[in-house]
Amino acid sequence: SVERVYNFGSGPAAIPVEVLEKAKGELTNWHNAAGMSVMEMSHRGAEFTKIAADAERDLRTLLAIPGNYKVLFLQGGASMHFAAVPMNLLRGMKKADYVNTGEWSKKAIAEAKKFCEVNVVASSEDKNFTYAPKQSTWKLSADAAYVHYCSNETIGGVEFQWTPETGKVPLVSDMSSHILSRPVEVSKYGCIYAGAQKNIGPAGLVVVIVREDLIGNVLPGTPTVLDYKKMAEADSMINTPPTFAVYLAGLTFQWLLERGGLAAVEKVNVRKAKLLYDYIDSQDFYSNPIAKEDRSRMNVPFRLRDEKLDAKFLEQAEARGLSQLKGHRSVGGMRASIYNALPYEGVEALVGYMQEFARANG
Ligand code: PMP
Repeated sequence: SVERVYNFGSGPAAIPVEVLEKAKGELTNWHNAAGMSVMEMSHRGAEFTKIAADAERDLRTLLAIPGNYKVLFLQGGASMHFAAVPMNLLRGMKKADYVNTGEWSKKAIAEAKKFCEVNVVASSEDKNFTYAPKQSTWKLSADAAYVHYCSNETIGGVEFQWTPETGKVPLVSDMSSHILSRPVEVSKYGCIYAGAQKNIGPAGLVVVIVREDLIGNVLPGTPTVLDYKKMAEADSMINTPPTFAVYLAGLTFQWLLERGGLAAVEKVNVRKAKLLYDYIDSQDFYSNPIAKEDRSRMNVPFRLRDEKLDAKFLEQAEARGLSQLKGHRSVGGMRASIYNALPYEGVEALVGYMQEFARANG
């Protein structure tokens, strides 16, 4: 068998090995008591009800989620919520404000346009999405139902290091690729949503955190399972939830709490990102185009000076157990996703390899 690699995939992505080992130990007989795996349990039974409730409690602790916010465990990927957000949050209004910082913003905008008038209030398209537009340049509308942005662009590698101020208009963020990587002031948001398959657990689960006064007035025709209010009233169990994904998410939340919570996890993430960016900036064989103050701590795209070496770089990386470094097909080059589960030693191994490869091929 192959040893576990350092997995730099952008999602589905690395899951902490301790979480996988725990799940493995409980796979056939949960807590040595149920006589079955979590996958085989009724979602309405006492065991799974507790698994889901514990997961919610631990997520609330990690993010210090205020009591007037609902936590939902839903499905459909973040992409489904590109539609569910306007369906739930337009609340009879006709317009929403969107910030455009890259591929995921564009997809959210395209979906919202099916339901309302979209005002793009700021965009970094003028510089090929290499920065986060400053708040002072945003042209917010007074009558928008909400303001949406993607706080970490997974493909471009742009992360907002600050929280926008939108006054009375609720702020909505797609945090899919950096949720739980740092503390967040939840009270500044009307709604936060994130697909699980980067920093939470396996694909198939979407976490939605939404202020309770904003829900309950959906667009006519909204499917019941996308109605945040109805799902909140039913503890996200109008239909069968992705039970195993919720369970693994819960184990990941425990893993994060054991490590001291998000302030501690953030410190490690800062060190990891600094190690990689400092190396990239110290030489000219590799480059990263993103404005320094807006660089993502989670997704680090980089290019080789000579793209003819890309295939060789990837092949030799794989041979050393540095896996899934190929950049997104839309931008090419490389991308190292260094989520919570990718340890500091993994970044050290990557930088060591990059140095050697540059020496041998520069
Ligand atoms: N938003 C962001 C920021 C993402 O990175 C992704 C997935 N890579 C999505 C949305 C879409 O998620 P899903 O594939 O789960 O619909």
